[in-house]
Amino acid sequence: MRDLRVGQGFDAHRFLDGRELKLCGLLIPGEVGLEGFSDADVALHAVTDAILGALARGDLGEHFPPSDPRWKDADSAVFVARALEMASADGYRLVNCDLTLIGQRPHIAPFRDRLRASLAEILGIEQCAVSVKATTTDGLGFAGRGEGLAALAVVLMGDGAKDV
Ligand code: MG
Repeated sequence: MRDLRVGQGFDAHRFLDGRELKLCGLLIPGEVGLEGFSDADVALHAVTDAILGALARGDLGEHFPPSDPRWKDADSAVFVARALEMASADGYRLVNCDLTLIGQRPHIAPFRDRLRASLAEILGIEQCAVSVKATTTDGLGFAGRGEGLAALAVVLMGDGAKDV
């Protein structure tokens, strides 16, 4: 039996007019998007870094550098899928994911269940094991000034050995 592994990931992106907002793989209509080389899905970037962190396998920028044209406008679900492949290769499986979005906007509550469903599908785990929370920073800092959106993810990885 392998040890349990916990991982955390953090990311932040600046708002950019003219881009669609994508969170947890879901397009959020009517909201200003985020600047970034890929699709700038700040939530999936934090989740990918959390998985890589649990595996002690470096970080998003190391595996998917913006200098590589393959990742221009890339669907960030690809990054999650690659990280989960690494987990499987190392004998781990994802147990649960807890995500916190940090910013003044968008208002997450109307989308929460759809964000959870989308993230659960991308992660390949049950929705009951996926939490999406949101907080403002009471007007403090870059998030409070509405300059961008940040995400913090924590994952737990367990024994991924297949039953025989
Ligand atoms: Mg990012």
